[in-house]
Amino acid sequence: MPRIYLSPPDISPNDHASVDAVLTSNWVAPVGPALDAFETAVAKRVNRTHAVALNSGTAALHLALQILGISAGDAVVCPTLTFAASANPICYLGAEPVFVDSEAHTWNMDPDLLEEALQCRQDIKAVIVVHLYGQCAEMHRILEICSRFEVPLIEDAAEALGAHYRGRPAGSMGAFSFFSFNGNKIITTSGGGMLLADDNAAIQHARYLATQAREPVAHYEHKSIGFNYRMSNVLAGLGNSQLADLDRRIQTRRAHFNAYQQALASLPGLEFMPIVEPEAPNYWLTCLTIDPETSGCSRDQLLSALSAADIEARPLWKPLHQQPIFKDTTCYGGAFATRLFERGLCLPSGSSMSLSERQFIIDTIHSAWAKSAHK
Ligand SMILES: *Cc1c(COP(=O)(O)O)cnc(C)c1O
Repeated sequence: MPRIYLSPPDISPNDHASVDAVLTSNWVAPVGPALDAFETAVAKRVNRTHAVALNSGTAALHLALQILGISAGDAVVCPTLTFAASANPICYLGAEPVFVDSEAHTWNMDPDLLEEALQCRQDIKAVIVVHLYGQCAEMHRILEICSRFEVPLIEDAAEALGAHYRGRPAGSMGAFSFFSFNGNKIITTSGGGMLLADDNAAIQHARYLATQAREPVAHYEHKSIGFNYRMSNVLAGLGNSQLADLDRRIQTRRAHFNAYQQALASLPGLEFMPIVEPEAPNYWLTCLTIDPETSGCSRDQLLSALSAADIEARPLWKPLHQQPIFKDTTCYGGAFATRLFERGLCLPSGSSMSLSERQFIIDTIHSAWAKSAHK
């Protein structure tokens, strides 16, 4: 059996046809009709009025922070349990990240600790909330706190395309939101991202900054420093066919989650990521924790057993406050995220994974438990 990856790209003949149609049209660089269509389709899907397609989710966050006026001397809140890309753009602008621990219901940013951070520090000028592993944070509280403190909220929905929160799409709730279409996400453009808002002027500004800040004149005229952050029309062709397949992908990933849960729930010490509303997440990755005291098999023993069987599984995100680069950065709380990192892992969850591959993973986990029970 070939290696089973965590979340590989899922490419179908429709994707080949969609990219081929773009190439045949000769709208190769940089913008074109496929790009416009992709922006419109994603915005419609997540209930936003405006969107700009970019070459990464990281670029989208960078532009959002810059348009909000974040600069040196400012602080920006970000959860500690996330990928470094949720925080790096804060540093690109010379501002300071302030990390906040996770809560136990969704593993996302703890609203109480967010409130404490905003009470303690007057220099916080924006908040980034992350919808980790495809499940939304406790947005009713986070939105209320941000509006009470009059701080703009950016949704890092990189992992959460197609997810909902109490009926509202992930990516529809903050002043800005963004998605990633990196190769491991639920849909991919190989590399890509999108910034969304309901403020036309803000998205126009992002589009201007993303295309080298060119003034609208025939000669090249510049009044600010720009970036080369735009998505290409060819990749948007891939995005369009991938987006059309999003609902099937969510269903498939959800079926993986349910099957893992059914097959593994009886193993002592093993617990799945809590799901608040079963209809709401996009089930990007199936995540679980292992209690070393009650399981007999530790997280690292399980990772080794999976790796020996050529199955790619990974620990949860290493908290940013534990990263060498952020070791001197303030973190409100942090113990819960640390505990998740020590005990947690993600299982292969791709929408192209076969039932026999899934069964092989389940069998490998059962035999890891059986071995540890005999020791
Ligand atoms: C993938 C990811 C990003 C970054 O997206 P890129 O498109 O890879 O730049 C940001 N935040 C989170 C939570 C992610 O998972």
